[in-house]
Amino acid sequence: MKLRVVVLGAGFGGMELSSILAEEMGDELELTLIDKNDTFFFGFSKLDVMFGRKAPRDVRLPYRKIAKPGVTFRREIVTAIDPEKRRVTTNGGVYDADVLVIALGADYDLTATPGLEEGGHEFYSFAGAERLREVLPTVERGHIVIGVTSTPFKCPPAPSEAALLLHDDLTARGVRDACQISLVMPFKVPIPPSLESSRAIVQVFEERDIHFVPERKVLALDPLRKVALLNEGDEMPYDLFLGVPKHRAPQVVIASGMTYDGFVHVDPDDLTTEFPGVYALGDVAHVGVPKAGMFAEGAAKTAAAHILSQVKGLPAPEIFDGKGICYVEFGEQHTARVDVEFLTGPSNGKYTPPSLEIAREKEQYGKTRSARWFG
Ligand SMILES: Cc1cc2nc3c(=O)[nH]c(=O)nc-3n(C[C@H](O)[C@H](O)[C@H](O)COP(=O)(O)OP(=O)(O)OC[C@H]3O[C@@H](n4cnc5c(N)ncnc54)[C@H](O)[C@@H]3O)c2cc1C
Repeated sequence: MKLRVVVLGAGFGGMELSSILAEEMGDELELTLIDKNDTFFFGFSKLDVMFGRKAPRDVRLPYRKIAKPGVTFRREIVTAIDPEKRRVTTNGGVYDADVLVIALGADYDLTATPGLEEGGHEFYSFAGAERLREVLPTVERGHIVIGVTSTPFKCPPAPSEAALLLHDDLTARGVRDACQISLVMPFKVPIPPSLESSRAIVQVFEERDIHFVPERKVLALDPLRKVALLNEGDEMPYDLFLGVPKHRAPQVVIASGMTYDGFVHVDPDDLTTEFPGVYALGDVAHVGVPKAGMFAEGAAKTAAAHILSQVKGLPAPEIFDGKGICYVEFGEQHTARVDVEFLTGPSNGKYTPPSLEIAREKEQYGKTRSARWFG
């Protein structure tokens, strides 16, 4: 009998887990991979799209190219999850699973920040990045505020990267002197797990006249007065607002009753939930690591190893170590690297300063994943 695995979400986590199970189980596997989109894209490619560095069609990878033994991709919307029965309902049918993997990522709740939809922009969704691609080239002067509205949020370095890439963009168009850039962040430093990289980023912010506002969140926008309302009662006037919206698990996951405080709680060692045979990994889960593709990939490796050990009756594999690499774009085509190990290792990440070489390494990182997942 084949193992019926249903994987919800073909993002970083879902793609990695499906690839491993296909490699290890081949003909013994009947894996259904479900996603509402017809293409995959890396989170970081939203910055490429937003700043016009790449065309949207060039960063999208069509799921129809997946060619893995035992894996069937279905473009459907998940509408209900019954974790006790391991049964999933979509707009295309009903699926029963021996093993159910929830990898639906984090969704955005724009309404949680009053005024954001009417008076600002978000750059965390693909559609938001595409809209800004049209708006940014029209900016010629004024105060641009990049603001985080709540925690947790995906890829904590991304707002700092956006500020540095915005500086490059405005400089290249000859309007930087007529613009101010401010970055509002809920943390004391740009990348809390790495003080060295945070110091380097803050230094570059000073050199490039980017105003860093630590330990503040944007609670609301007042579109009529064009003012961002921050916690502690501060106000910040803006001409253009680029926001990181509030994150939460997709509504269908919340409706399944599996979430606490907005995300699915799992055993961080093996990504199992309280429901037998049901795993949750990546941004949809609360594990104690940042919400980033690298950690979703690591969690998928651990969950896949756990599934394989259960199926084959092998001893439990190594536990999830929360290890990962964060690439941080510093602008001027330079990228830095931070190696972190959240769950088992030292709390302070190892920092490698920005260079063209690391920028190429990041490019290669994307290519190897595309080849492995779609090959
Ligand atoms: C601007 C930006 C920059 C980033 N840069 C980096 C970076 O440099 N490095 C890094 O590691 N991470 C980065 N990230 C974060 C990274 O993209 C995410 O953390 C990662 O994609 C999480 O993987 P996941 O598998 O948990 O979820 P996702 O990759 O988000 O996948 C979830 C999938 O579920 C699908 N889905 C959701 N709901 C439904 C439904 N109801 N029915 C069917 N399908 C559904 C979605 O379509 C999606 O494909 C960045 C994110 C952003 C926004």
